[in-house]
Amino acid sequence: MNPSASKKPGLIWLNVLVFTSTFAIAAIGVPLYAYFVGFELSTIIAAILAIGFCGLSITAGYHRLWSHKAYEANVVVRFLFAIGGAFALQNSILHWSSDHRTHHRFVDDNEKDPYSANRGFWYSHIGWMLREYYPQDYNDYHNVRDLKRDKIVMWQHNNYLLLALLTNFGIPVVFGLITGQFWASILLVGFLRLVVSHHVTFLINSLAHMWGTQPYNDQNTAKDNPIVALLTYGEGYHNYHHAFAFDYRNAIKWWQFDPTKWLIKSLSLVGLAKNLRKTPEERINKAIAKLQRNKTCEKLNTLSIPNKEEALLLIHQEYDELLHAMNTFYEAKKEWLEVTKDKLIDNVEKSQQAKRYRELKQSWTEQQKHWQLLIHQYA
Ligand SMILES: [Zn+2]
Ligand SMILES: [Zn+2]
Repeated sequence: MNPSASKKPGLIWLNVLVFTSTFAIAAIGVPLYAYFVGFELSTIIAAILAIGFCGLSITAGYHRLWSHKAYEANVVVRFLFAIGGAFALQNSILHWSSDHRTHHRFVDDNEKDPYSANRGFWYSHIGWMLREYYPQDYNDYHNVRDLKRDKIVMWQHNNYLLLALLTNFGIPVVFGLITGQFWASILLVGFLRLVVSHHVTFLINSLAHMWGTQPYNDQNTAKDNPIVALLTYGEGYHNYHHAFAFDYRNAIKWWQFDPTKWLIKSLSLVGLAKNLRKTPEERINKAIAKLQRNKTCEKLNTLSIPNKEEALLLIHQEYDELLHAMNTFYEAKKEWLEVTKDKLIDNVEKSQQAKRYRELKQSWTEQQKHWQLLIHQYA
């Protein structure tokens, strides 16, 4: 017998059974039924909506609302996310958020991060839930004391099993009976929906820590990847997320796919969410520039080129100038915004401030172009 195998913690048979049986039924039953009987459009649409409901309840609710407190939500929204989370069968909000806060605090630490990506794809994707890796911590909720004050969170936690059973059996059964597509609904809205929403979330712990770029922080394995974002309701911009975890956005550019952010913003526009937290643009730009400087210097240090010292000095000088241009621009922007709001200040002064703001913006833009050229030269 392999001695290392004997050291592995015991299997959690309930999880093993749930994950394997649901996956097997979805992978075998769905294609067979599609071939021999066929699915009606209404069932397919219901399954897609149910997948979205589960997925967004996890990303907008469990993750950004409760784990990170990136915004505040109305009781109706919290109730719906609590139901969607039980339907997604990913444990209670309290438990999920506790695990997730530990993940952020000890990211990549093989002893403390519950789904450390350093332990490999399988472990971070699903393996961590199949064995008793942290039995002593299972009911330790000291890092989610704030969530215990949320009545919806505690109601869902105390009734989790009942809610999970009611949603997972009730919704597919009721829909199947209403439409007369009973087995089709069980397969698509029941099993396929569950398996898809499981693995979509699991990808954030596995693939989003393995595949992609690191524009904001390289001190952990989290990556930004637009393809992973497409699959995970925007959570694939995971490098940004680990750098600025309290931000309600994971993607900051308008063209990047982050439907979770769009949902939260839409909820705020109709008064169902408020206090959306955003990282100041200045902090984001500073993080990018600092990382670019560090990476370029590291790269230069590994090269054997003439005038290396001068090149390193030039990068540091240009970086300082970039920061100076950035700081003066953001200060001018702040002043300009204050002046425009102040009714006591006359239009002459306002236009002078606006002119100064535009000039500094121009010089910062030029400094940025200069910086990018220099960085690419050594890339
Ligand atoms: Zn992560
Ligand atoms: Zn997070």
